Amino acid sequence: MEAGYHRRMCAFLDGIETEVGTRPGWLRIERGNDHAAEFDAEGRLVRRQHRGESWRITLDWRVLRTRRDAGRLRRLPPLDEVWITLAEESERAARLAHTSQNIPSELRAWLARAGRFDTQTLAQDRRSLREIYHPIPVLPPDQYQSLVVQITEGCPWDRCSFCNFYRGQRHHIRSDPEFAAHFHRLLDHLGQSVERCSRVFLGQANAMLAPPSLLRQRLDSIIERLGLLPPTLPPSQRRPWRRAHPTAIDSIHSFIDAFHRTPSTADLRSYAERGLERLYLGLESGSPRVLELLQKPSEPEGIQALADAIHDAGLQLGVIVLVGAGGRTWREDHFRQTVRQIEALRLQRKDQVYLSRLVVHDGSDYARRAEAEGLEALDSRELQEAEHELRAALRSRLAAGVVIAPYDLEQISMWTPRA
Ligand code: SF4
Repeated sequence: MEAGYHRRMCAFLDGIETEVGTRPGWLRIERGNDHAAEFDAEGRLVRRQHRGESWRITLDWRVLRTRRDAGRLRRLPPLDEVWITLAEESERAARLAHTSQNIPSELRAWLARAGRFDTQTLAQDRRSLREIYHPIPVLPPDQYQSLVVQITEGCPWDRCSFCNFYRGQRHHIRSDPEFAAHFHRLLDHLGQSVERCSRVFLGQANAMLAPPSLLRQRLDSIIERLGLLPPTLPPSQRRPWRRAHPTAIDSIHSFIDAFHRTPSTADLRSYAERGLERLYLGLESGSPRVLELLQKPSEPEGIQALADAIHDAGLQLGVIVLVGAGGRTWREDHFRQTVRQIEALRLQRKDQVYLSRLVVHDGSDYARRAEAEGLEALDSRELQEAEHELRAALRSRLAAGVVIAPYDLEQISMWTPRA
């Protein structure tokens, strides 16, 4: 049995030796030497390992596949039809619940919870979650394990030529009853699965637009319900504290933009006192010409002022850059001016720069503008080179400890569960 798990039972299932182990909040079933499935406290499948391939299953039942090849973790393309396989794992848990009379009742109940997710229940579970979120949110790559709580809906701008995330969705700040209903329904749906989420991400495109007093109220409500790890707690006391507070989160995060009203440093500090840790800004490019093509309003002074306020408040900043924006024509300008602008932001340890390859949707405003201007898109080799150049230039200019990482929209998924 995997280290950290307490072996609870062993049985032969379909002629294969099968062990069941538990640790606080987690149930694991191992079959033979090369197959394991892990479930959360609610019985939702979280992880599956089979013959060297690892699946992490999101709360809306999407699957992130990886395989370790020659010591390197390789992402595999998503599979379309995996539900039968997921339901098979669940069905094994159901059978184990009935294999022996000598199972402790609490373990039998846990196996039964894991065993209820047949394909119909899976589909229903996913539908219910998607109804709570409309639409499925986009998240920064390090936020897939977050519990998304939507304080606002939609995007207040909704006109960037490359972006269709919230297209046509009415932007508004949720009223007290709307927010209360959303939060209640979300927690009710997730049950104990909420313990998988170690962070909260505030939806949607810019939750920082909520009036400061309202935003403080929302943060207080979230913390009151889930709990927040005391930042001053010594590391040695964190594990026991967590065991006593299984729903508690470590931190809160959000997108922000620099072209609407931005919070003052004092307001940002008050949010930081309530668990806000990092804000993510879609910079996209430092080139005015490329920004015009992207239809993204941007003023270097506004971005600088926002970055300074974020840092003065003790918060971290995540900056997102669009690799390949502007095509071959603007490649050099995009590279030079983006590097220059990011360097000016004086990023600090734990700040992040995400390099996201531009995905051009057929019929999008960007596609039409690019065609009208005769812009040629970068091919995949050029995109790779452009990403590499940006990464190398930023690495040599930015402070140690600033994270520079890819932001792969193809891999977007709502959550990666905490393991
Ligand atoms: S990129 Fe951001 S600001 Fe632009 S439309 Fe999309 S969500 Fe809104």
